[in-house]
Amino acid sequence: MTKTPNELTIAEAARALRARELTVRELWSACVAAAEAKNPELNAYLEIFPADDAAIAAAQERIDAEGENAPLLCGIPLAIKDNILIDGRIASAASKMLENYRATYDATVIAKLKEAGALFIGRTNMDEFAMGSSTEHSAFGKTRNPHDQERVPGGSSGGSAAAVAAHLCIAALGTDTGGSIRQPAALCGLTGLKPTYGAVSRSGAIAMGSSLDQIGPLAKTPEDARILFDAIRGVDPLDSTTIPDGLHPAREVPKALRIGVPRALLGDTVSGDVRAAFDASLAQLEAAGHTIVDVELPTSGHALAAYYVIMPAEVSTNLARLDGVRYGHAARGKSLLDDYLLSRTEGFGPETRRRILLGTFVLSSGYIDAYYRKATAARAALRREYERAFERCDVIAFPTTLSPAFKFGEKSDPISMYLEDIFTVTANLTGMPALSTPMGTAERDGKHLPLGIHLTAPHQAERVLFAVADAVAALR
Ligand code: GLN
Repeated sequence: MTKTPNELTIAEAARALRARELTVRELWSACVAAAEAKNPELNAYLEIFPADDAAIAAAQERIDAEGENAPLLCGIPLAIKDNILIDGRIASAASKMLENYRATYDATVIAKLKEAGALFIGRTNMDEFAMGSSTEHSAFGKTRNPHDQERVPGGSSGGSAAAVAAHLCIAALGTDTGGSIRQPAALCGLTGLKPTYGAVSRSGAIAMGSSLDQIGPLAKTPEDARILFDAIRGVDPLDSTTIPDGLHPAREVPKALRIGVPRALLGDTVSGDVRAAFDASLAQLEAAGHTIVDVELPTSGHALAAYYVIMPAEVSTNLARLDGVRYGHAARGKSLLDDYLLSRTEGFGPETRRRILLGTFVLSSGYIDAYYRKATAARAALRREYERAFERCDVIAFPTTLSPAFKFGEKSDPISMYLEDIFTVTANLTGMPALSTPMGTAERDGKHLPLGIHLTAPHQAERVLFAVADAVAALR
C-alpha cells in the first residue's frame, strides 16, 4: 500500500521532494487536509495555522536550486507544542492565563527550523504549563489517542504526539521536564527524545522547571528524531545553560551494545504484558549480538519523590511572573493583593495551583532543609549512581511506562497520575539524554496499544541512543 504524503516520515518526504515526486505545496496540503478532517475528534491542535505562501514557495525554490544540499527539513510541515514561541502567534501553554498571549519573538529552536526551511502547521494541545501525563489538564479540552479514542495520548506533549501518530503533520516538537516527550511517544507509538540538558536552547520555551526542561522531537522513526535533534541543537547566547559539543567525554557507538537493565527496579509494578514485551525485546537484542548487563540503581527508588519536590519549587518560581500585572489574564479586585489572588485563581487550573502551593511550601524557610535541600542531595546521588553504572554499559533500558495508554479519568487522583512518571523523571534530574521508542503492543479492550522501551545514555551520548533505537526498530 503506498502512503499518502502526510503519512511519510521526514526522510521519505525529503527524498520525494528532491525526486520531484511531490511538491512542498502538495505535502503541506495533505497534512492540513488530514489535520482539518481529524482534529475535531482528536483535539491535537489548539490552532491550525493558515498557509504561509511565501515560506512554501521559498522552500520549493530552495529544494529546486539546492537539491541534495537543501536541509532535510526544508518544506517539511511540523507541529509545535503550545509552550514554544513562534513570533506573532499565540503561545498559551494551554492555560487560560495566556489564552491571548502572542509571542513577540521566535524561540531559538523555531529560528533554527525556519532557517532550515521547515513549515509550521499549528500549535498543539498539552497539559497546562506542561504539568501532567495525559493532556487532561489542558484548559482547552482533552486530546484523544489516535490508537483508541477512549484513551489518553499521554502528556504533557499529548497534542504533538497525537498529531504525529495520526499523520496530521510529519513530525513535532514537545518539551520534557519529567517525561513529557517520552511518555506520550510511548503511548502513541512514536520515538521521542529528551536531549542532554543544555544540548538544545530553552530560549523561547515557556519555563516549567528550568533545571529540568528540554525541548525535543516527537517523530515516526528514530531517524526522524535524529534529523530534528540535529537541526535544533547547539550553543545559544540566549541560553547560558547550553553546552558545546564535546563538553562530556565522547562515547563511541559500539557494534555490539552493552544494555544495562535495573531488574530490581522493575519489581512487580510493571504490568505483566508490558514486562513480557520488554523481556522479549531484550532477548531479541541479545540474539542480535548485544549484551544485557545487570545494573543496580538503588537511589532510583527516590527519584520520583525528589522530582515532585524540585519541580514544583521551580514551577512556583517560574509562574510567579504571571501575576495579572505585566501580561496574561488580569482580574481587578478591591486591592492589589485582591488583583493577584483573583488573576491567579481564575487564570490557573487546579493542577497548576496545586504545584504552586507545593513548591512555595518546600521552599519556605521552615521546610527548605527538610524537603528542597534533601531532594537536591538525592539528585546529586542519582547522577553519581548513573555515572557509575555507565562504566559497565552503554545504555540503561526499562519500559517507558508501567502500562499502555489509560482511559480518561482513570488517574484523577493526582498521586496515581504522578506515578506515571516513575521511570522517566530520572533523566531530567541527572540531565542525561533519554529516548522512548516503540517495543510491541499490549491488548486492552480488543485494541492493540503501543508500548515504549526507554533508553538512557551518558551526557551528550545521543548517538548511542539513536543506535540502540535503530537496533530495536530492526527487531520488528
Ligand atoms: N508528567 C510530569 C509532570 O507532570 C512531566 C511533565 C513534563 O515533562 N513536562 O510533571
